[in-house]
Formats: sequence, C-alpha cells, structure tokens
Amino acid sequence: MRAALITGARQIELVEVPEPHPAPGGVVVDIRYCGVCGTDVGAYRTGMPSHPSLFGHEWTGTVRDVGDEAGGLAPGDRVVVAVRAPCGVCPDCAAGRPGSCRAARAMLLGRDPLAPPHGGFAPALAVAAERLVRVHPQLSDEEAALIEPASVAHRGVRRSGVGLGDVAVVQGAGPIGLLTLQFARAAGAATVVVIEPDPGRRAAAREVGADLVLAPGDEAVAGVLDVTGGAGGDVVFECAGHPPLLQAAVDLTRHGGVTAMLGYIEEAATIDPSRWLGKDITMVASVGFARQDQHSAMSLIADGRVRVSPLHSRTVNLEELGGVLQELAAGRSSDTKVLVDPH
Ligand SMILES: [Zn+2]
Ligand SMILES: [Zn+2]
Repeated sequence: MRAALITGARQIELVEVPEPHPAPGGVVVDIRYCGVCGTDVGAYRTGMPSHPSLFGHEWTGTVRDVGDEAGGLAPGDRVVVAVRAPCGVCPDCAAGRPGSCRAARAMLLGRDPLAPPHGGFAPALAVAAERLVRVHPQLSDEEAALIEPASVAHRGVRRSGVGLGDVAVVQGAGPIGLLTLQFARAAGAATVVVIEPDPGRRAAAREVGADLVLAPGDEAVAGVLDVTGGAGGDVVFECAGHPPLLQAAVDLTRHGGVTAMLGYIEEAATIDPSRWLGKDITMVASVGFARQDQHSAMSLIADGRVRVSPLHSRTVNLEELGGVLQELAAGRSSDTKVLVDPH
C-alpha cells in the first residue's frame, strides 16, 4: 500500500507502507476521501508536518476491520475523523474544563499511542476507535469529507457568540469562510457580509447565502460601515489567514464587538493595540472542535441549512496531489476544497 508523505520542503512522495492492522482499541478504516487542508499546504511549503498523521487529516471512510474493544464499531460503519471525548481524569478535566482535555488535545495533534504513521492520503489507516464518529446517515460521502472543516467553523461560530439579529462579517471565502458564513446565518445573524478578492470564491459566497460580497480594502470598509450605520460588524471573523488581516478585522469590528480568529496565520502579525483597547473588543481565537460541534454540524448539513457541496471544487487521485499542493502553495489556484480519492 502506498501513502503520500511529506519528505522535505515542497517535496511529497508516495511511500510504500505496511498494510494497517487494528490494535486493541483500534480499527482500520478504508479511506473514501481525504480533503486537502490549508495546514497540509503549510506542511508542504515548510516540509514539516507537525505529525505525519496530520498530513491528510480531513478524511472519511468505512470501517474495514476492528480490534478488541473497538467501542461498538463494526465493519461497514461509515465514519469520520473526530476528536475523542474528554478523558475525565487529566488535570484540565479534573478542574472542570473538559473543553481543554489534555488527552483530547494530544490526540488532535497526533500524540496518542495509536496515532498512525501517515494520514488519510492513503487507501487505509489504522486509528484508535475513540477517534471516530459515525457519519449521519443522510450525508453523502462527499459531504462527509467536509465534516472536519465544518466542525472547525462550527466551533468558531459557537465561541464567537454571534446571535439573533447580528451583522456578521467574514474575511476570506475559502472553505472555512464559506462554512463560517453559513453557521453564522444558522446562529441567527441577520446580515452576513463577506470580504474576498477572488471572483470564483466571491461567487461561491453568494451561492451559499452571503448578503453582501465586497472586495478587500476601501470597498470593504465603506460597505461594512454602510450596513451597520457607521458602527462596524457585531462579530468579524478572520478566516483568510493573512497576517495584515488580523488588524483589519479589528478595524471592521464595532465598539464592544467581537473579533474571532479562525484562519491559521502562520507568520507574526503587526497589530495596533491602542485600537483594540479603544474599541473595547473581545478577541476570540478558535482552533479544532469538540464532538458536539461535529454532531451539530452534521445535523445542519443534513437538514440543508448548511451546504457543503458548493465548496467541493474537484477530486484528484494520489498521483495528482503533489500538483494540487504546488498550485495551492503558489497561491494560483481558484480551488476551494480539493478531495483526494486514494483508490
Ligand atoms: Zn483541516
Ligand atoms: Zn481530560
């Protein structure tokens, strides 16, 4: 069996790996699709995935084989990668902070005893059974492949506290931005404004329900002030992951509002603290997701309130993955979410 692995900066290879076997407490999943994430592009650029199993972490598939104590999973179950339930015994759980469970965070980072030696850019994968949740029966395989980024956006929106009647502003209409705008709408936002320079992504934002799509810069500033009576957005979501946009997000937030950082900004960013202080903003930074986000995201996709298929731009095979990463790293791709079919 061959798995795609990062072997250096801008270097990806199909490496022969052993057929996976389920450990006690583990299962083997036949991968149906694995989505290409922004962090995969970052790992390709630098040559350093934070753990080999995280290169290709947005996967869905079918359970092929189960080990002892596989938590009730059976061959044929459709599953998606998840985060384990809080352990209940680590210092954070014991202090009443299950959302910060150390065991769950370690597993999310690929630091658990059953972490596989590669990610989902492979035909199959052996993982801990507690890393899986069953896919909502109404979701297609393509939709299931987008549950992971949908859960990330869901958690960010939940943490932001955006609510009924709010004006939400979303910077960046990549996968996380397109999902965030829909969850913000589902949470009750009355107006959702999206800021995005790429024409293809602007069209996608309109298709999934943005009220207003603006170009970055002067047009964005004038447009947001116009729809908010000069105040600024109640909640501004930074989903573009570009360093100067952190301060830009705060500048678009109303006095006393919330700026929520969901995009992964790799480099240091320059901010103007006096403008943060002067606006009395609340800053929310959100990464990862909890099980409740996955279950809720799946329900919202199943009942049609959130649409993920407009985000899926194309499906490629393992041989084509290198070319896709090259295009995405060079910033000359109009793809939103590319899925890899490893078979
Ligand atoms: Zn991801
Ligand atoms: Zn814990």
